[in-house]
Amino acid sequence: MDCIFCKIISGEIPAEKVYEDNKVVAFKDINPAAPVHILIVPREHIPSTMELDIERASVVAHIFLIAKKLASEFKISERGFRIVNNCGSEGGQTVNHLHFHLIGGRDMTWPPG
Ligand code: 5GP
Ligand code: ZN
Repeated sequence: MDCIFCKIISGEIPAEKVYEDNKVVAFKDINPAAPVHILIVPREHIPSTMELDIERASVVAHIFLIAKKLASEFKISERGFRIVNNCGSEGGQTVNHLHFHLIGGRDMTWPPG
């Protein structure tokens, strides 16, 4: 399958991994939008939020707990941070493997552009 995140998970292409376990992998975004910008992805290839179902939904709770742990480790938990999931083309999704952005280390505005 021609999926860049599956290739990062398998080690076929390099990435700066900051966490992994049997369910998820987290690595630094290649084009960071903030001083801390980490992508957290399920090992399983789920294309987007729209393909989530009740059997697979538990990985999202796991991803949020890993985001919380990484926010502490990367020292953005006290000032605050953002967890973002882009879904579909108008949602800004460019890689079709479910992923959550953990972004922090600068002030952010709302709503996003
Ligand atoms: P999306 O726009 O789909 O929500 O986010 C995809 C993210 O993946 C972007 O922030 C982009 O910079 C990041 N990205 C795309 N290709 C690579 C890659 O090969 N390695 C890493 N580390 N990040 C990537
Ligand atoms: Zn994939």
